[in-house]
Amino acid sequence: MIDTLSSAARPRCGSAKQTGESRMAVPKRKVSKSRKGMRRSHDGVSKPTVTICSCGEPAMPHRACPACGKYKDKQVVGGSNEQ
Ligand SMILES: [Zn+2]
Repeated sequence: MIDTLSSAARPRCGSAKQTGESRMAVPKRKVSKSRKGMRRSHDGVSKPTVTICSCGEPAMPHRACPACGKYKDKQVVGGSNEQ
C-alpha cells in the first residue's frame, strides 16, 4: 500500500518553528481605509447603454435586436421577413 500520509507527517526542511497545519500566508499589516478605497475606486459598475430599435424595443448597441432580430434595419436573426 502507498502511504499517503508520509509526506504530511514527515517534517520538512526549513524553519523549525512551523509545526501543525497553519501554513497560510498572513498579511503583514492591516489595509487602511484609504488604501482600500483607492483599490475599490475602479470597482464601480456602470449602467449599460441601451438604444431603441426601429421596432421600438430597447436593444444593446452593435448587437441584433432581441425582439425582432434586426441589426441596422436588416434581418440577421430569425429570418421571418427576409427580402
Ligand atoms: Zn427590434
